[in-house]
Amino acid sequence: MFIDKKNLDESISPGKDFYRYANGGWMKRNPLPPEYSRYGSFDILAEENNEKLRELIEGLSKISITPGSLEQKVHDFYTSGMDTNAIEKAGINPIRRLLDEVNSIKTKAEFLSFMIRMQAENFQYLFSFYGSVDPGKSEWVMASISQGGLGLGDVDYYTRDDDQSKAILSKYREHISKILQLSGFEKDCMNYATAILAFETSLAKVSMTRQERRDPHKQYNKMDVDELIAICPALDWRKLIKSLHLDDLKEINVSQPVFFKELSNLIDTTELETLKAWMHWTLVNKNSDFLSDKFVNAAFHFYGEYLSGKKKILPRWKRVMANANHALGEAIGELYVARYFPPESKERMLDLVSNLKESLSERIEKLSWMSAETKGKALDKLEAINVKIGYPDKWRDYEGLNINSSGYFDNTRTAYYFNYLYNLNKIGKKVDKDEWGMTPQTVNAYYSPTRNEIVFPAAILQPPFFFSDGDDAINYGAIGMVIGHELTHGFDDQGRNYDSKGNLKDWWTEKDAENFKVRTKILVDQFDSLTVHEGTRANGQLTLGENIADLGGLNIAYSALRKAWEENPPENPKEGFTPAQRFFLAYAHVWASNMTIEDMLRRTREDVHSLGQFRVNEPLRHMQEFFDAFELNEKAEMYLKPENRADIW
Ligand SMILES: [Zn+2]
Repeated sequence: MFIDKKNLDESISPGKDFYRYANGGWMKRNPLPPEYSRYGSFDILAEENNEKLRELIEGLSKISITPGSLEQKVHDFYTSGMDTNAIEKAGINPIRRLLDEVNSIKTKAEFLSFMIRMQAENFQYLFSFYGSVDPGKSEWVMASISQGGLGLGDVDYYTRDDDQSKAILSKYREHISKILQLSGFEKDCMNYATAILAFETSLAKVSMTRQERRDPHKQYNKMDVDELIAICPALDWRKLIKSLHLDDLKEINVSQPVFFKELSNLIDTTELETLKAWMHWTLVNKNSDFLSDKFVNAAFHFYGEYLSGKKKILPRWKRVMANANHALGEAIGELYVARYFPPESKERMLDLVSNLKESLSERIEKLSWMSAETKGKALDKLEAINVKIGYPDKWRDYEGLNINSSGYFDNTRTAYYFNYLYNLNKIGKKVDKDEWGMTPQTVNAYYSPTRNEIVFPAAILQPPFFFSDGDDAINYGAIGMVIGHELTHGFDDQGRNYDSKGNLKDWWTEKDAENFKVRTKILVDQFDSLTVHEGTRANGQLTLGENIADLGGLNIAYSALRKAWEENPPENPKEGFTPAQRFFLAYAHVWASNMTIEDMLRRTREDVHSLGQFRVNEPLRHMQEFFDAFELNEKAEMYLKPENRADIW
């Protein structure tokens, strides 16, 4: 069964609230489990996947494994995470040496030298240093630095003064104080929590907001090392670069120059004792998941319960699995694919992608608002999009990584450090085109603007996205839409700044760029006007790229489906719905979910994706095909007059 009537709520008209019409039954039958702040059909797939991984990894205990093999590394990592006796016994010991060192610092010079050493050891707390594709020369990997230092997930928590933000900051201060107390901080914890919060607030004020960071030009500021030293003299950059074995480094991309300039001033003007307290707090906070339960639970109480509305912490094995996926992602991926990925899925996907690409190409040719000149460039870019499906052709080598029974914290640090060096080692070299940015066991997909490629990991090629025996309407509505969505990212408000080779280069005529902005502004205003909860509105600018991709994805997938029907006419109707209805129902079902109010508010600040209900209802209002499929007219609440609709891709 592909469309299950039990998932619907037929008491609601599809034209009033399609999301609830399509998912109301599902939502009632799948109440939010206490360990989750959001639970949807998407998460059920992720859960099933988790169970598969568990079976796979726990199964390794029953076979003999070669020391140094992937199996041994994965097995020992996971087992050390499940060894609660050892973890409880260790308590805070894994980081005690570092905390003692912080405590014994006597001068600011000593603090700065300690901090540089920490950064080099991948305790990257004040800022991050990494290799990434150079958007000016996309064949090459450059060194980059990015703002950091905050314990809350967004700049905006510190800088807004509405009641909700103030309440969060006050709770946050209590939480910092509690962590200081639990971890043996010997001075007045509440006073220092206040000072730490003030320091983080000063950092937040000079940081780029999430919205500003959507503009790739703003974050591309390559300078030579002397220039960086001139804007941020407080830190010993030469020493850091040397410790990272990057002695020949000439240039570095300073993603947020204002931050680094002000960071230098802030370090100069902040009292040494505050900086030390901040380092103490951050060390415990960033590592709490790998310490004893006292720390795990305190962190959950604030970040999980208070900020996201979860009632219960996830079982330990799921938390360890998430960390193992982070630390040893491709090693686990290689084992996962060998066992679970049917090669036929790849063939079917390649077909779908090529149909979707063709349909986008035809749509671009027909666009009324774009000149032939820009269309030519857009088509070149579309043609050049590289496609990766399932898993990498070449697996990553984990040779040299030592995972053993020494303990969860040590294994985690060792693996993270190994990954850090792996990343740094790419700096100054050519981009490895075979590399993946997501592991095969991830239920997700992405578009990379600097690589101009779309990537679909093996784990997403399953229901409710991909049905190996499903009809076209279902598959185009679900995975087809995801493919269209990722393709559209190449042409959203961010992606359109990059050319076919992944370079930041303006290929638009002025008039076409203007037309694009006028059209996308319709979506900004539409989403800005949506109420999330009691006076909190959605953020149209922050979610613009995703909203463009959702609308584009739906349009492209629907055009491709119509083409597929020319060759292969659909059975009409099936399971009580016409093929067109099945397309839209399959789409809506992907986003069926329940969610806490706290998480809705948190995501509204932090997530570039709109909430599921908006992702379903809002783009459909721009599609006549949707109104036709359900025989809706201007009386339907979701109806938008054709002149008010956004017609972009
Ligand atoms: Zn997206």
